[in-house]
Amino acid sequence: MAQRGTTLERGRPGTTGNGGSDSLILCDNLVKIYKVADLEVVALQGLDLRVREGEFIAIVGASGSGKSTLLNILGGLDTPSAGRVMVDGHDLLDISNSDRTRYRRQTIGFVWQQTARNLLPYLTALENVEAPLLLKGSPTRQRRERASHLLELVGLADRQDHRPAELSGGEQQRVAIATALANNPRVLFADEPTGELDSATSVEIFDVLRSVNEEEGVTVVVVTHDPLVAEHVNRTVAIRDGRTSSEVLRRAAVDDEGEHTIVSEEFAVLDRVGRLQLPSEFVEALDLEQLVRLTLDPDHINVWPSESKKAKEDER
Ligand code: ADP
Ligand code: MG
Repeated sequence: MAQRGTTLERGRPGTTGNGGSDSLILCDNLVKIYKVADLEVVALQGLDLRVREGEFIAIVGASGSGKSTLLNILGGLDTPSAGRVMVDGHDLLDISNSDRTRYRRQTIGFVWQQTARNLLPYLTALENVEAPLLLKGSPTRQRRERASHLLELVGLADRQDHRPAELSGGEQQRVAIATALANNPRVLFADEPTGELDSATSVEIFDVLRSVNEEEGVTVVVVTHDPLVAEHVNRTVAIRDGRTSSEVLRRAAVDDEGEHTIVSEEFAVLDRVGRLQLPSEFVEALDLEQLVRLTLDPDHINVWPSESKKAKEDER
């Protein structure tokens, strides 16, 4: 139940503003507006997110909900328009170009959806994983050892000398994960890493991500439009219209018969100023619109259709 507190805590006044000392990643009221000609597209509208060190989380949402925008900001590839974003003590809203380059090379690793974008086609798997270490100037033997270890970790010890074209899509993504980990980053970000893979191979990639999370201790944040991913991670954060709307937490529990099971619980996200997104199926079920009535009971809150709406219905 330890994780439950984190979800609820976000709603308590003051907790989000404490600097997030226990959070490796902290987004507070994050806004991103793209300007295209005279048009403004609000891709993120006040997004809140906290990720603790060592977590393995998925961010899910429909196409266009702002997932890549968020990941590009967290990856130091794009800058937010407003709000606050801290990763491992780096303030990404106020970071110099040289610090940003260092942040991208040392603090984080990134895996893209497009398998071809992750690897250099003329290098072997081993050379690809070694490349970031070469940039850093690591000695040859150390480079080779680290790269071999990582390829082993992702299950590709026997494919070291293959070039990307001689590997399957799933194998290329495994090499991409190994390459992203070469520099021992604090966080691994992956934007739809299984988007070009079939479902069986996708499951394998999630297994690989889990093992690097457990064995390398790296925090893993994966973005996907596949809601089934929730079965493979500990926490799933849903984004809708550029804001985090709900979270699913998975935890081990013991049922009435004494059997160990995995329990999934869904929570709505309450932000610092008390905003809450109702699930669309709830809104539709009661045909809620514009105004709702709230009443407080000692241990819960009721949400009712507004009086005027009820009156209109009674007239009918
Ligand atoms: P997702 O990854 O969840 O599919 P994105 O973050 O790519 O969503 O996009 C969120 C919204 O921002 C979309 O409406 C998209 O059209 C818009 N958008 C994304 N990138 C840009 C850009 N570079 N310029 C203008 N609009 C963009
Ligand atoms: Mg995307």
